[in-house]
Amino acid sequence: MAHAQHLRPETIAVSAGRPPRVPDGPMSQPPVFASAFVGGGEVGYARTSNPSWSALEEALGALDQGEAVAFASGMAAVAAVLSLVPHGGAVVVPRHAYQGSLTLLDAEAATGRVAVRRVDVEDTAAVIAALDGAALAWLESPTNPALERADIPAIVEAARSQGVLVAVDSTFATPLRLQPLALGADLAVHSATKLISGHSDVILGAVVARDAGVLQRIRTHRTLHGAIPGPMEAFLVLRGLRTLAVRLERAESNARELARRLAAHPAVREVRDPGFGTVLALVLDDAAAADAAVAKVALWLHATSLGGVESTLERRRRWATEAPTIPEGLIRLSVGIEHVEDLADDLLAALG
Ligand SMILES: *Cc1c(COP(=O)(O)O)cnc(C)c1O
Repeated sequence: MAHAQHLRPETIAVSAGRPPRVPDGPMSQPPVFASAFVGGGEVGYARTSNPSWSALEEALGALDQGEAVAFASGMAAVAAVLSLVPHGGAVVVPRHAYQGSLTLLDAEAATGRVAVRRVDVEDTAAVIAALDGAALAWLESPTNPALERADIPAIVEAARSQGVLVAVDSTFATPLRLQPLALGADLAVHSATKLISGHSDVILGAVVARDAGVLQRIRTHRTLHGAIPGPMEAFLVLRGLRTLAVRLERAESNARELARRLAAHPAVREVRDPGFGTVLALVLDDAAAADAAVAKVALWLHATSLGGVESTLERRRRWATEAPTIPEGLIRLSVGIEHVEDLADDLLAALG
């Protein structure tokens, strides 16, 4: 069911994906725990579809102005999009991007399934030059954890003229801050594990597209690889989506204020702030300084991942897979919805 086109995204996040309005029917789609359905219908087996996913897909599709396909995780969604690349096809990818995506691409490149072309995604001319003969442009904006921004409309225009598919991992921006399909991209990818669900308690992913052939392949990939979300996970993510707009507003306002204060701190060499979203990075002198700050915080939580209501931080180079071009002293901050003064007090005290 198409959702009303005139509604604003904040309203769609609350109102889309609800059951039909029948007296005494539930207001929200409950999780449907079933492996098989009574025969004679369209679905039959629950690896193909489940009403719990359908409600979430309706809401995510309406927000991103396409049709959404929910997956067991963000990485399952990434893998489904990469399956569109023909054998040996080239994928243009930011040199800084989600580590799981880069590691998967490297693994596929090692067997010759794909070829990987790494680019500085802020260097639009370099990205466009790399599109020559490529099968897929994989964009992430802002990138993890460098927070670079891609010029999506310019890259899309060049890709279109060469028949290169464009996918945008929109996890950091969410459908409320970036709508890749409206900018001409073929696919939007989300790790709903992050801001969309928002409570650090569930893993789920989604792909959104418009082209019927692409959607068919993405859905078939999900069914045959079994990369399906559980009904409870789909329920939790849709529940989280209902409050995304207000969580985002608060966390973004916290993030901008923290960026301003951190920039004035003598221990901070650099603050990376994409100007929207809830993720910041700050660069300290070296690994030791960053590790010391992370060990000192009491309110901020030392943890990976991002997008929850609680503020978290981590030194990214603690991961062996992080790109060597990311500074050793870079701390990624995922800003939550606490009071900004408490966040600032704790973080600035930890910086010394
Ligand atoms: C977390 C993340 C993913 C992977 O999602 P999972 O739900 O953890 O599988 C992909 N892209 C980005 C940008 C992410 O932050």
